[in-house]
This record gives sequence, structure tokens and C-alpha cells, in this order.
Amino acid sequence: ELGSDVEVDAEVKDDVDEDDLLGGLKISSTAEIDVPDRLVDQVIGQEHARDVVMKAAKQRRHVMMIGSPGTGKSMLAKAMSELLPKEELQDVLVYHNPDDGNNPKVRTVPAGKGDQIVDAHKEEARKRNQMRSFLMWIIIAIVLGYSLIIAGQILLGILAAGVIYLAFRYGSRGGDAMIPNLIVNNADTATAPFEDATGAHAGALLGDVRHDPFQSGGMETPSHDRVEPGSIHKANKGVLYIDEINTLDIRSQQHLMTAIQEGEFSITGQSERSSGAMVQTEAVPTDFIMIAAGNLDAMENMHPALRSRIKGYGYEVYMDDTIEDTPDMRRKYTRFIAQEVNKDGRLPDYNAEAIEEIILEARRRAGRKGHLTLELRNLGGLVRVAGDIARAADADYVRRDHVLQAKGRSRSIEQQLADDYIERRKDYELQVSDGYQAGRVNGLAVMGEDSGIMLPVMAEVTPSQGPGQVIATGQLKEMAQEAVDNVSAIIKKFSDENISEKDMHIQFVQTGQQGVDGDSASITVATAVISALENVGVDQSLAMTGSLSVRGDVLPVGGVTHKIEAAAKSGCERIIIPAANSQDVMIEEEYEEMVEIIPVSHISEVLDIALEGEAEKDSLVARLKSITGSALSQSKNE
Ligand code: ADP
Repeated sequence: ELGSDVEVDAEVKDDVDEDDLLGGLKISSTAEIDVPDRLVDQVIGQEHARDVVMKAAKQRRHVMMIGSPGTGKSMLAKAMSELLPKEELQDVLVYHNPDDGNNPKVRTVPAGKGDQIVDAHKEEARKRNQMRSFLMWIIIAIVLGYSLIIAGQILLGILAAGVIYLAFRYGSRGGDAMIPNLIVNNADTATAPFEDATGAHAGALLGDVRHDPFQSGGMETPSHDRVEPGSIHKANKGVLYIDEINTLDIRSQQHLMTAIQEGEFSITGQSERSSGAMVQTEAVPTDFIMIAAGNLDAMENMHPALRSRIKGYGYEVYMDDTIEDTPDMRRKYTRFIAQEVNKDGRLPDYNAEAIEEIILEARRRAGRKGHLTLELRNLGGLVRVAGDIARAADADYVRRDHVLQAKGRSRSIEQQLADDYIERRKDYELQVSDGYQAGRVNGLAVMGEDSGIMLPVMAEVTPSQGPGQVIATGQLKEMAQEAVDNVSAIIKKFSDENISEKDMHIQFVQTGQQGVDGDSASITVATAVISALENVGVDQSLAMTGSLSVRGDVLPVGGVTHKIEAAAKSGCERIIIPAANSQDVMIEEEYEEMVEIIPVSHISEVLDIALEGEAEKDSLVARLKSITGSALSQSKNE
């Protein structure tokens, strides 16, 4: 049994209820759960990536890991280093080269030997120095004694003694220079090295030779003593981990590739004008396994040769964002909480209800029905914040209320902004959440990754002088144009009005929000335009989100949960979402009471729900149905 296949080490009920949030674990707190020793056994989910890492460790292959932040990439890389044989580790020494001081010699010895060699050299130098000082003082004594005997020569004698003293002092420096510089020392390492070179500059990655301000005159540091190893050298026989690989400059990526190909890379000064740049060591071993990580963009922007190198000689693996929510997995998540509590070292243990609340949150964050989120760094953050709150309150255990408090506290910047935004808009009465109004629809948008905002859309239709135009204000002009293009096909078919002779003014009512994604607003724009065109009021206690196909189908969009919560906070009572998104709705309990969620699959349903008055609406909706009825009946039959 390996990795997360390792069963959670605690008693489990015989008959596990499918809905049991603890997966049937018979525990009262995380204190009763043992955390596995090996990192690889602590990894939750990521079965595929984990298997690849185990295989790559055995075969010494490089790995490319692509996936969301905080899903366990560096954790797996580190776990890999624990799996590599420790016996192969080496120490690396750099020696003075008497033939060419700028070309230090390099020697590789088994781990632990390096320290011994340096100690032996030091001991030898010490003995030699002792011998020298002994000799020095004898000679000085003789010289001084002799000059005293021949009186009058005292001054000359002292001078001679001084010269002898300096000669010996200076000479002994030569002895120190012979002590090698131990640049890689694995004497005390428990596992193969794990080097994280994420964001490293060239010197840190490839090694460097320090600048020497005293380049002559007896004060200089010998060049071999100024040599510093890079991550590629320290990772020898271990793992070199580089996240955001694409941000590494191209030159460094090229050198990295050379190091991978040759298995060795000599060290030279990285800054051109430094005296270190004149120095170049013999080759230093760089026999590491590289784990490069990043998101999808990273892969596109990385040096193609480096990428193909990994592809050709290694594995590429995609990290999962979510995992199926089963009793077994919930037990693993319980252990995850124990792991995080353990790792922190200062947090109280979680009681059962607090564990359950975290697992509920894992469900909610998955954004997908029947799944748990694998963005565990963030979830671990919540575990810690709740733990800190409990600790500050001197509680014996982290309880459910601590977790609930923590959730409020660990809101992302976007969520905080969105809250603030909703408040501000209420002040300005930009928000309308009751009555009917023609041409105005409450749309919904996502801000950042985890928050929604209500984004009202206003449309006005005016006769055009020339050919009809779409005139959009706000920051979403392009999006508005696209949405109108999509809806105009539908409008054209059913409306008596000839929209090619009209200008459509579309305004996104917002107060300077940045980074709002708008592609999910097309049913909003369509509804606003149709309402303005026909001059029929739209229910303002309603908010909606959904993408629109040219046939009038309502297509799924992202972030429905966050959008619904934003609408609820803004005071809306009903929310239209695409039927295809129904299973993604995972709102918090407090909102469930507040709002009615209406899944739809066709624009005619949207209008049916949104528009005021029976007669006009009926004719509108009826017309729509008659044109695109096939699409409607299809989705109705599903
Ligand atoms: P990444 O490298 O993908 O950004 P990390 O490996 O640095 O993420 O994860 C950060 C922390 O989050 C880990 O140290 C661990 O505590 C937790 N974590 C992330 N993914 C997992 C996982 N799959 N299993 C267990 N813990 C995880």
C-alpha cells in the first residue's frame, strides 16, 4: 500500500453511512489519527501524479507537472526525493589549482567523505603552522640574541626579526589556500536532496564565483574559496524542483538543459564585470531529476527544447483539481486536517464537528457536484486560521464555530472587494431589487476566482440615422457587441421591430470595477434588449446568468455558486441559472432560504420568468417559442 491508498489509521464503523461526513471514522478528534511518516503517503488524491512520481523515481526520469496552485506539486516533488536512494549521494570539493589559479579543480567523493577531507587538510595546515611558528620564534630569538651580543646592531636586529615574522605569516597563507572548499556536503542529509529553484536567479540556479575586492597584494581570497554551488549542483542525485518554469530566463533555461544533458556543469562567475567571471571550475556533477511545474500557460511559454527534453525522456502529468466525494476520501480529508495540525505544531486538534465543517467547505469549494476540492493549500490555510482562532480563545479543540469564524476571515481580496462593492452600491441606490423596469436586468458576474457581483445591464433602443449600431458603455464594449450579435439573430426572427434600423445603447451599470468577466451575461443583454425593444418591464427582484446560443439555448457558465450568493446578498429573490449548471450549485445554508433558484434551458423561459404582464409577455414568448420551438421541446423532454 502506498501513498493515499494507505488507509487512515483509526477505527471505522462496520456499516458506513454514505452520507457520514467523517466517512464512518469512530473518532472524537484529530488527536486519534496517526499521520504517516513518509510525505508520499500524506498526499491526498492525485493518484495519477503520484504513480508517475513513483515510477519516475525508480527510472530516474524528469517530470513535468501541470496544474492549479496548491494541489501538491512541490509536495510530490519533495516526496520523490524521499524515495531516491541515499547511498548514491556525493560530496563535492573544489581545490586550488597550482597551475592555473582561475581554473579550480573539482573532486567528487562519497557523502560524508568531504568533511573528513577538509578536516584532514585543516589538521595538516595547523601542524604546519605550528611548526612554522616554532621555527620562526627560534630564528627571531637567535637573530635578536646575536644582535644584542654585538651591541649597537639592535635596531637592525629588530628590523630583521620583523621581516622574518612577516615572511612566515605571509608564507602560512599559502598553507590555508590548500584547504579545499566543500561546496556540496551530504554528510548529515537524511534523504536525497530536494532543491526548490523556483524563481531563482542565474547565480542561485547555476552556481557563482564571488567577486574579490582584493585581487592582488597578498590580501586576495584564492579563487577556489570563492566558488558557490547552484541549485543544479546541490540537487545532484536528488530532485531539482522548479515551479513557474516559464518565468526562468531563456539563458538559464538553456544552461539548465546543458546541465541535464551533460550531467555536469562547471561553475563560473555570473556577473560579467566581477573578478569571479574570470574563474571557471572543472565540471561539477549535476545528476538530478528535474520536476518542472506550472499552469497550462507555463507549458506554452517554456523553452521548446527543454520541454521536448522532458517529453522525450520523462513524463508529463496533469494535477487534478477535485476528487470524487466518497466515505473513503472523507476519511482521507480528516487525516489531511490531522496532517496540517501536526505540521503547524501549535494548533489544537479538531473535534468531529469542526472536521465536518471543513469537509463541507471542501465540497463547496469543489464547485462540482459529488466532489471535494484538491486545492489543499487554500483549504490548509482555512484549517490554520480556524486553529489560530481556537488557540487565541484558549480552546482545547478547534470547534465548528471557529471554522465558521475563520471562513469569514479568510475571504479573498476579491470577496472582500465584492462585499464592499455591494455595500457601496446599496448606498448609491444603484441596486434595484424590486418592482419592474423596462430595459434593465440584474446580471451576475464573477470577480476573481471566488466571488460574484451583481452587474445590472441597461438597454435603450433608439431609431438610427444610418444603419443600426450597438453602442456600449462601461468596460465591456467587446463583450456587449458579441452578446448583441448573438441575440440579434434571435431578435430578428421574432420581433416586429426592424432592429437593423435601430441603435442599441447598452450600459453596464458599474462603478469602475476591474477584472469582471462578462461572457456569461449574454442572456442578460438579450433580455434587456428585448425588454427595451418591446417596452415591457423586467422583474427587478430577479437576477440572471447564462450564456446564449444563436438558437436561443441557454448554455452553462462558470461560478454559479458565487453569483447566486452575490445576488442573494444584493437582495434578489429569484435567480435564473442555466439548467446545465444546476448540479454546480453549492451555496451556503444561510442563502438557501433567501432565494429561489430557477434553472432554464431556453431564452423563452427566461423571458417568461423575467417580463412583466401576461398579455404582451405571452405574445412575445409565444413568438419566440414558435421560432425556436424545437430547441425548447428538446430541452424540455430531457
Ligand atoms: P503546489 O506546489 O501545487 O503549488 P504544494 O505542494 O506546495 O502545492 O502544496 C502546499 C501545501 O498544501 C502542502 O504543503 C500541503 O500541506 C497541502 N497540500 C497540497 N496538495 C496536497 C495533497 N494533494 N495532499 C495533501 N496535502 C496537500
